[in-house]
Amino acid sequence: MFFDAMLCNGCKKEYKDVVRDLANRIYCKPCFLRLIERKVKKELRGINHQKIALLKSDSASFFVLKSILTVPYVVIENLDNYIVYDTVILPFTCEDEDELFLDQIFSGKFPRKLGNYTLKKTNFLKPLLNVSLSECKTYCDLVGIKVKVDDTSSKISRIFLDRMSEKNKSLKQSLSRFVQKFSKL
Ligand SMILES: [Zn+2]
Repeated sequence: MFFDAMLCNGCKKEYKDVVRDLANRIYCKPCFLRLIERKVKKELRGINHQKIALLKSDSASFFVLKSILTVPYVVIENLDNYIVYDTVILPFTCEDEDELFLDQIFSGKFPRKLGNYTLKKTNFLKPLLNVSLSECKTYCDLVGIKVKVDDTSSKISRIFLDRMSEKNKSLKQSLSRFVQKFSKL
């Protein structure tokens, strides 16, 4: 069988084996991994020497963070005791953030806890806000992490997001970026 080689959007070389990001851009495997790692590391700047916790989840997003984090941290099951940490890292993807925003809007509440936020003296950091769940799954596939979780959501906000993004591939990330700006108002 013959496969056409495709041009990687990162290194501009041709590959037969490529993956796509949420916006449908083509990457070779090393460039895709670097892209995600760069996005995450950018958000993690300045947290060295802090007491850090990572919130556990069954989702691919948690395993992406686990594989990229190089600072010492503990894994916590819930946020009950968040106050003892300087920084709590939340494995939220852009869909999670969009869903959080829409759920609060749909229920008539003023949206809260959006973007990175601070409670008492603890910083809540969401390094995957510009990364989608499908990109997290691709990342896990490429580094050989098996994720067994049914993350299909029947929430109205997720169905809304999925349907809308069929027409506009970049909707999830655009909305997430809007929410991050909104959170600073
Ligand atoms: Zn490449």
